Formats: sequence, structure tokens, C-alpha cells
Amino acid sequence: MSKPTTFLILGASGDLTSRLLLPSLGQLLQREPEREVVLHGAGSDAWTTRKWRDTVREAFASVGADDQVEKVAGTTYTQADITKTADLKTLVADAQGRLVMYFAVPPAVAATACEVMQDVPLPEGTVLALEKPFGSDEHSARELNRTLRMLVPEEQVFRVDHFLGRSTLLNVLGVRFANRVVEPVWSADHVESVLIRYDESLALEGRARYYDKAGAMVDMLQSHLLQVLAVLAMEAPASLDEKDLRDAKSAALRATHIWDDNPVRFSRRARYTAGRIGDRELPSYVDEEGVDPERETETLAEIVCEVRSSRWAGVPFTLRSGKALGQKTAEIVVRFRPVRHMPVGLTGAPADGGVLRFSLGPDQMSLELNVNGGDDPFALHREYLTTDLGEGRLKAYTEVLSELLDGDVALSVRGDAAEECWRIIQPVRDAWERGDVPMEEYPAGSPGPKGWPTSS
Ligand code: NDP
Repeated sequence: MSKPTTFLILGASGDLTSRLLLPSLGQLLQREPEREVVLHGAGSDAWTTRKWRDTVREAFASVGADDQVEKVAGTTYTQADITKTADLKTLVADAQGRLVMYFAVPPAVAATACEVMQDVPLPEGTVLALEKPFGSDEHSARELNRTLRMLVPEEQVFRVDHFLGRSTLLNVLGVRFANRVVEPVWSADHVESVLIRYDESLALEGRARYYDKAGAMVDMLQSHLLQVLAVLAMEAPASLDEKDLRDAKSAALRATHIWDDNPVRFSRRARYTAGRIGDRELPSYVDEEGVDPERETETLAEIVCEVRSSRWAGVPFTLRSGKALGQKTAEIVVRFRPVRHMPVGLTGAPADGGVLRFSLGPDQMSLELNVNGGDDPFALHREYLTTDLGEGRLKAYTEVLSELLDGDVALSVRGDAAEECWRIIQPVRDAWERGDVPMEEYPAGSPGPKGWPTSS
């Protein structure tokens, strides 16, 4: 960590930069005081360096990292169109140490910039960081991968998925592989079902420009939740270095398909109507500013996947995510099969053989066990062993940023995995496009459409 890293943010005047990247950088510099970062911002807006520095200062202050501002006090802003070769050449020319280019721009702009960069000599070791969504389907993701391969080796491409930096997900690795009480039972022999759920009480929050084209399926399932599935379902990697870890995840994704290849039966979609969440009155999704009802964008999506391997055959992996729901519930639920035999005399037969639950935000882990005792010493009831795992969303970006600035891509999505994730969901998108799966409705603030499970 002795050499500085030049962190060049493209799209510096955007939402992602001010809300997540800069606060995370502030946190990171606070956490790792020896880290040297030369920060540059660039974007199409006619910002001055002074305005950029104010933005950096405010973002650092928002996470209590005011004391770190002086480390990037010399930061500058350059107005540039990153789809133009000349502008890109100027931007990369002054890099010191390793150059990390973060494309905090709309995906189409990032794709064009990557095409154009073929004529821009990049310093040795340059790392390119790309945000989600990576492409818009399997074909476009493959094309973008092809372009990127002409620029830098795969080990220098960081496809950002901040879920991979979440303490919960990182803890899955430890819990799964370091515990004799968990590792041997992590298979279809013992696991009955897996649920990966990310229900938000937030609604559109003015992000129609992006969300109305993505919907819950692309925004959450295609990217984050399939990454979670990969970590849960993968075989034990020999090590956590980028090759071993990402090989294992990709193998799991290649084995993943929509249950029974039947997207009509094993997918659901819905959209919120007007309702109330706490003291907020929400309009119907279709009446939100910037939404085009013709697009038929879903705000709640669910798919059931199977992982075709000897470890997982027969275990449904349900992925679900939605907006404007009554309760924020973000969790991984691993439900164990009932025991084969219960001694006669124990009463209150449980529905399952226990549940391991990882919650995201606040990040917690809980093991639900069937225990007896209490008033009737032979009656079973549920007890919960719960522990906190760490901080939430911003911390995840900080973790990701730390790896990125080190040039370590283990916690990023490899090119083939990005393509696989599109391949997995495509049959569902096709079925929805054909109108084979009805668009259901749920009032904002409710648990979801009638007939969908309300708890896990
Ligand atoms: P914004 O629209 O807020 O910001 C995009 C930035 O890119 C703007 O500053 C824009 O400038 C700039 N830009 C556009 N075209 C060019 C160009 N040709 N040359 C230079 N700069 C350009 O988007 P977000 O910050 O919300 O999102 C950026 C990326 O991050 C997207 O891929 C998004 O999917 C992803 N993302 C965003 C999240 C978020 O919470 N915001 C979360 C996860 C991912 P101008 O304003 O002048 O157009």
C-alpha cells in the first residue's frame, strides 16, 4: 500500500458518486490511514474543481470522515465527454501509481466509452470498474466482455456488485466452511429450501429514469440475488483468491436454471398500487413521475431456481425482491429438513429441522432450533440464537472499494458469471414479455399480492 493509487471517477457529478462512492472513500481512508489515493473527478457537467471539492467534503462529512478530506485536498475535476477519445486520453495521462477508472455513468455511456478506449493507451495495470447492470442481456454482456478483454486482462476488470462486500455474505463463507455443525449438512440431504429475499419499504424515490427500464428482476435478482445464490450454492473453493472463489461461483451459476425449466409456473411479478407506508402516501407505481405504464415494469419479482448438481438437486432456491412493501425484510433463509425420527414422547412436532437465517440491514445471523424444556419439559418450542454481523450498505461499498483500490477482483463479478446471470433469467423475461405470467398488484405498504407468502 506504499504507492498511491489514482482513483478516477467518471460521472463524478452523479448520484452514485455523491451518495455512495465518496462517503465510502471517506470511510476507507479513515479505516486505513496508510492508504494513499489520488482522487480525480470527471463528468459532462460544467463543474468547477471548487464545486467538486465541496461535494467531496460534504460526502466525507456525511459519514463523519471530515478529518480525511485533507488527504484528497488536491483533488481536481475535469469536464469531459468520456465517449470521446481525446477527452479520455487527457484524463488518463496524469495517473500516478495504479490507475483505477470507475464508470459511475449510465451503462450505455460506459459501454461506448469502453469501445472508444481501444484508441487510448492505458497505463500498465489499469483497473476498470463497471457498475450494474452489466449489459442488458446475455448477448450484450458478452459483447461488452469482448470489448473489455481488448483493453485489459480479466483480472483487471471489476464488475461491481456491492452485495459481495456485505458482511452478511462474507460471513456466509465463514459459517459454511469453518463449522463442523454446518459444513456437512449444507446439501440437499439436509436442506429443504433456500430463500433469498430483499423486500424494501422504499418506493421509487425519484429513480424512474433507471428503474422503469430495469424493474425488480434486473435491478435485484439478475445481479445481487444471483450472486448471493452463487455463494450459498458453490462447492468449497480451495482458497478465497479471485480464481478459486470465482471459479466456484461460476460453476454454481452454470448449474442454475429456472425450476423445471418452467418460467410460467415458477416466476411471479407484481406492481404496487397507491397506498401508505408509515406516514408516507404513495401513488400507484404507474402514476409515479417518469414511469411509462406501457413498459409493464414490475416492482416485485419472484423466481424459483434449481441448482443442477449432486449437492443441490431437488432444493428450491427462491429469489424475491420488491419495492414499497410494508416491511423491509432482507434475508437468506436456509431451512433444514425435518429429522428422520423423533422419539415418541416429545410433543409439538416442528415443521422443519431448524433454520439458519442471515439478515441484511441490520446484518445479523440467527439459528432457530427446536428445543424442549420450559413449562412442559417434553414440549418442543423454537429458540433463537442471534448475533450481530456488522454494518450495512455503505460498509459494503467501502469493502468493495478497498478491494478495488488494491486491484483485487475476488469480490467482483467475473465476465462469465455476468453472462450466466442474464442466461438464467432470460426464460422468465421471455415469458413475461409474451404475457404468459400475469402482472399482479399490491397496495404500497402491504406485504405483497394476495396469495404470496407473507413470512418466511
Ligand atoms: P446519474 O445519472 O446520477 O449520474 C451519471 C453521471 O454520468 C452524471 O454525472 C452524468 O453527467 C455523467 N455522464 C453521462 N454521460 C456522460 C459522458 N458522456 N461523459 C461524462 N460523463 C457523463 O447516475 P447514477 O450515479 O445514479 O448511476 C451511475 C451508474 O451507477 C449507473 O450504471 C447505475 O446503474 C449505477 N448504480 C447507481 C446506484 C445509485 O444508487 N445511484 C446504485 C447502484 C448502481 P450529466 O448529469 O451531465 O448527464
